[in-house]
Amino acid sequence: VSREGRPERSVVRVGDVEVGAEKLAVIAGPCSVESEQQLLSCAEGVKEAGADILRGGAYKPRTSPYDFQGLGEEGLRLLAAARERTGLPIVTEVRDVRQVALVNECADLLQIGARNMQNFDLLKEVGGCDKPVLLKRGLAATIEEWLKAAEHIAAAGNLNIILCERGIRTFDTTLRYTFDLGAIPVAKAQTHLPVIADPSHASGQAEYVAPLALGAIAAGADGVMIEVHPQPERALSDGPQSLTPSAFAEVMHRLRSVAQAVGRSV
Ligand code: PEP
Ligand code: MN
Repeated sequence: VSREGRPERSVVRVGDVEVGAEKLAVIAGPCSVESEQQLLSCAEGVKEAGADILRGGAYKPRTSPYDFQGLGEEGLRLLAAARERTGLPIVTEVRDVRQVALVNECADLLQIGARNMQNFDLLKEVGGCDKPVLLKRGLAATIEEWLKAAEHIAAAGNLNIILCERGIRTFDTTLRYTFDLGAIPVAKAQTHLPVIADPSHASGQAEYVAPLALGAIAAGADGVMIEVHPQPERALSDGPQSLTPSAFAEVMHRLRSVAQAVGRSV
């Protein structure tokens, strides 16, 4: 994935959406797929606000085994229905090698979560898939470890990789994680892959999502991934960091002027 071997930047196609081109890619949707009604109202809201790709977790990596673990296959079916309704391509996390074939069949982009960034068997498995991969940075991974994880996917045959900075663990626990803005230009300097940012998990609080998203775009990110829920206070996961569809529309509006300032569009 190094730029030494390929000096020109890669553009990764997700359905009909190009990630890494002049136009920024905006991924939005709920943390977890919870119900048909929740997902469809969210999907329609983010589409209306101008999102390019719909997110939603069906297999959730949760800290506690007693928290909502996701709807699994039913969640994948609901995501496919939301794509049918809105035309938006979908991204969802694949948490285990046993889920890869099914998720590869249903989704347009396979997400490797932060907690699995160095699950080498999983990296190899998605490296054998025909769908692009969204590789999140591990919560305690160095930039080098993150880029080497991408190399595992590429070495297994899949060069369609998008990197995602989502915050790391530091001594400061004020926010959920510490957003590593510097990782964006470094990853772009060292690899030819598109790099996006996830300000939702980085901040853990809805009020800080917009400034981190704007900063990421100013620093050269090729897009953002933002969690949106029609009723954040009722979300089964990550409610405190989820934006309502109207707050998301406001962020999209603000992103446009920053994008323009750095020669990009939304
Ligand atoms: C997610 O995107 O829902 C998620 C669990 O993110 P991360 O792996 O970055 O924690
Ligand atoms: Mn989440």
